[in-house]
Parts: sequence; C-alpha cells; structure tokens
Amino acid sequence: MKTAYNFNAGPCVLPKEAVESTINAIRDFDNTGIGLMEISHRTPGWERTMAETRQLWRDLLNIPDNYEVLFLGGGASTQFFTVAANLLNKKAAYLQTGVWAKKAAKEAKLFGEVAIVASSEDKTYSYIPKGYTIPTDADYFHITTNNTIYGTEIKYDMDCPIMLVADMSSDIMSRPVDVTKYGLIYGGAQKNVGPAGVTFVIVRKDILGKITDRQYMNPLPTMVDYRTHAAEEAKNISMFNTPPVLPIFVMHETLKWLKDTVGGVAEMNKINVKKSNLLYDEIDRNSLFVGTAAKEDRSIMNHCWVMAEGREALQDEFMAFAKERGMVGIKGHRSVGGFRASLYNACPIEAVEALVQCMQDFEKAHK
Ligand SMILES: *Cc1c(COP(=O)(O)O)cnc(C)c1O
Repeated sequence: MKTAYNFNAGPCVLPKEAVESTINAIRDFDNTGIGLMEISHRTPGWERTMAETRQLWRDLLNIPDNYEVLFLGGGASTQFFTVAANLLNKKAAYLQTGVWAKKAAKEAKLFGEVAIVASSEDKTYSYIPKGYTIPTDADYFHITTNNTIYGTEIKYDMDCPIMLVADMSSDIMSRPVDVTKYGLIYGGAQKNVGPAGVTFVIVRKDILGKITDRQYMNPLPTMVDYRTHAAEEAKNISMFNTPPVLPIFVMHETLKWLKDTVGGVAEMNKINVKKSNLLYDEIDRNSLFVGTAAKEDRSIMNHCWVMAEGREALQDEFMAFAKERGMVGIKGHRSVGGFRASLYNACPIEAVEALVQCMQDFEKAHK
C-alpha cells in the first residue's frame, strides 16, 4: 500500500488496530459466522458491544452515574438543534468562535432568544474571545471547545455560572475532561473516536424534561427527546431504534486502543502535546511560514499556518512538494487559506516528524 501521512481534518486517521479488527468483524462478528453489517442489533454479542462501548466512555472520561452516554445519528450538526430543543426554554448564550459555533447558534434561534456573548469573527476566528459576561438568565452557555477550521481551542474546563454545553467534536478524548462542569457534551465521532456515522452525547439526566414555557416543538418529537435514547439501566444499552452498528463498532475498537494501548486520556494528552509542539516549533522557526492562530489559544489538534509575508508565491509549490512526500490533507480551509495539519489522537508521531522534515527541506531549497 502507498505510504500516506493523513492530516485530514475529519474524517481522519484511525488507529490501525481498530481498522484491522473491524475488517475481521465485517467478515465474522463475535464468532457468529455472520458479518457485523449483517447481524441483528438485538444479537447478544451486539448488546454486549453497546454496553462495553458505553462503559469505555465512562472509564476513559470518568463520567459519573448521573450522566447518560448516547450514540445517535445525524452528526454534530443535528445536535445543534437537538440541544436547543431539549434545553432552551427562553434564552441561551453562545460563544462564537467559528462557523460551527455560529451554525449552532443559528439553529438555537429557532427555539428562543440567543445571546452571542462574544465573537472573534472580526479576525477570522483566529483567537478565543476573553473577558465576556455570561448572562445568568440564560438557560445554558454553549461553547465549541476546539475550532477545527481555525486551530484555536479552549483547553480547560471553565467555571460557568449557568449550565455549560460544549461541542467537543474535534478534541474529545484528547485530554482529561471534568465532565461534572458540563450539563451536556456532544460531537461527531469522525475526528477522535471513530468514523462518520455516529454522534456522541453525554448528558446530565436531571436537566432533561424541563421545557415548560416554550410553544415551539413542545412536547418534543420522540426521536429528538434525549430521554428516548437513555439506557435501560439493567442492560447499560440504549437502542430505541436501529443504531449505526458499523461506526459504533469502530468507536468501540478505537476506545479500546485508547484505553489499553495508549493508557487513557491523560497519557494521550502527553503524546498530543508532544506532537503539537513539534509542529508549532517548526512553524515558528521556519522563515517561510507563519502560524495564523493566537499563540495562547492554539489548538493541539488542528495546526494552521500560511506562507510568511513576501513568500506567498511559494504556496502552490510547497503544496506540491509536500504531496510528493506523502502528505495528505494539509490544505487549509478556504476561509483561512494556507495549510492545516490535524494531529488527532491516532496520528502517529512519525507522521508529524515527516511533515516537519518536509518543511525544513523546503526551506533549504528556497533559502
Ligand atoms: C466537524 C465538526 C462539526 C460538524 O460535524 P458533523 O458530524 O459533520 O455534523 C461540528 N462542530 C465541530 C467543532 C466540528 O469539528
């Protein structure tokens, strides 16, 4: 197979072990003689896989018993309105740190008043706004912890005077998280925890079923109400309807890798920081390149940079140079331009070393 260093922003690189065991399960799931995509989701082996996947989430993030862990369809984008449908009674507050955050706020407006407490749109979302005030009369405060397109990240669990809700699509499982600081955490799986097709929701049970004043979508459609998907306590599984079996299986294998091979999210974070520093050090050192995100807000997942002033003409040449050396997915989002390398959990350090070497060789060729 061709050597490719995968820096795609999502879907993206998965642990090799997870891919291999999924290939085997597609042929024969759990020694049933039937493939993963052909089993009934009520098969005991599948019920066990669901329960184990949920338990892996609980173990890895220390999720307390008063929280539910749900696996849904529709991607993070479906959660933009589902979150508001379940939690927005009158008013919600949003921090606008990128287009995903903006889209989340737009959907919430269908359900009530939305206050944008701060935005970094003025500088192409290259920083995380600070010094804003969270309105205490809002039902919740929504943040996007990692801004995939711009490479900025809120790398800590903030203290919030009202319920905190976070889109963690692109940094979940990259560091330990104090789940108790949040009412709800959600995200698409396709960055750090699996392939596209499954969405995770971690929700504190007591915040649900509290919509009293709202006219619109009240009561909630069955599939939109998180309580529909809450686990049957005895079995530790939730399957109101057919779950996305294949992506959940890959997620199960990915989390097993994270727990058993890596040793958990704290270990993962050390590795992520090391990989991230390696690349940022090169971006800062290399005379041909310059980073785009504010240094104090730099993401450890997505790294964005452009050609240095006066060297813009070399952009296409570097892209071709990198492609020639097996670098895949380093084109920056069109709104930022330049380059972006996503170093998610499963991205090996060798890939980062290869990219850094490539940047150094390109500099030598153009000194
Ligand atoms: C990728 C991404 C999304 C969109 O996820 P989908 O599953 O494609 O809907 C939302 N928020 C963030 C932060 C993302 O990185």
